[in-house]
Parts: sequence; C-alpha cells; structure tokens
Amino acid sequence: MHRRLFLRNLACLAGGVLINPASGLAAIQDTYLSKPRELWLKRKHTGEQDKVLYWDNGQYLIDGMTRLCILTRDIESNQAVQMSPLLFDLIFASQELAVSHRMQRWFTVTSGYRAISTNSRTEGAAHLSRHQYGDAVDGYRENVGMTDNARLFWALQSGGVGLYAGHVHADVYKTRFWRKGV
Ligand SMILES: [Zn+2]
Repeated sequence: MHRRLFLRNLACLAGGVLINPASGLAAIQDTYLSKPRELWLKRKHTGEQDKVLYWDNGQYLIDGMTRLCILTRDIESNQAVQMSPLLFDLIFASQELAVSHRMQRWFTVTSGYRAISTNSRTEGAAHLSRHQYGDAVDGYRENVGMTDNARLFWALQSGGVGLYAGHVHADVYKTRFWRKGV
C-alpha cells in the first residue's frame, strides 16, 4: 500500500531535519516538549499502530516525521502530505498530559490529512477544514470520556478543539472551541 502512496511536499524534509518552527506551543515547551518526543498513534480504520520517535536532541527527525505523515494520511485517497510538526507536538503534549493523569497513552486517529475531494465528501466537514492544510487531527483516547479527551487538548491552549460524539478535533490554527452533536 505504501508504495502507491503519493508523498507530496515532503521535499522540505530532505535535509534530514526540519528547523524548529516558531512555536505557538511555547507556553508548554518546558513542561512537555523538552524531552525526546515519541508519539503513540493508532489508525482506527486500518488497525495500524506505531510508536514513533520524531524529535530528539533539538531537531525533528526525517524518518519519524515521514512515518507520522504516512500514519495520518488521507486513507480514502491514499495521499500523504507533510503535516505540521506543531500538530504532532500538540498531540505529543496531550499524550504526556494524559499519561500524567493515568490515562491512555495511545491516540487513535480517525482522520488526519484530507484531500479536498475527501473533505467535500466528509459529512459535517467545514468547507475550509484545517484537515486540508495538514494541521488538524480527529481522534480520541480509548477509555477516556469524550469531554476529557477534549480537555486534554483544550488545557494546552494551542489551537482549535472541537467536541463531537465520537471523536475530538484538534488543530494548531486559532485557539477556539466548539461542540457539535453533544
Ligand atoms: Zn476535524
């Protein structure tokens, strides 16, 4: 399956590392982001799961970043793009927060990147969904109530959080909160 993946926009990773971007996550940098970042992600619809070290010694790692971009690909159109590194930092910070509260470490992704065609077919998706820009994720931690799932992102104050019946949305765009159907 991966051979057929269309890996777009990964060229800027070609130098082996990404430059640390100016971070909207600065406030949580010392608390959650100062140690090696290993993200535990599952994909609900494919059953994939991976523990990915994607940042260490002050830099993003090309192998880890690539694996995360593939894990969070658009499954329907089978396309992966370069996702925002800040999104992975956000999920990682929420992971650390969850673990500190004895909650599930794995984050189950229900939707990551969405091509425009996929987004237009996604029920309830915003026309200009952040998923199309590679800086949003939908998912949840198992055995954690959906409100607490939302709190694990909202507590970080680093982007948008949407609370839905079956998942939460998190992005690194503007800090805002909404709920739908709950
Ligand atoms: Zn979403």
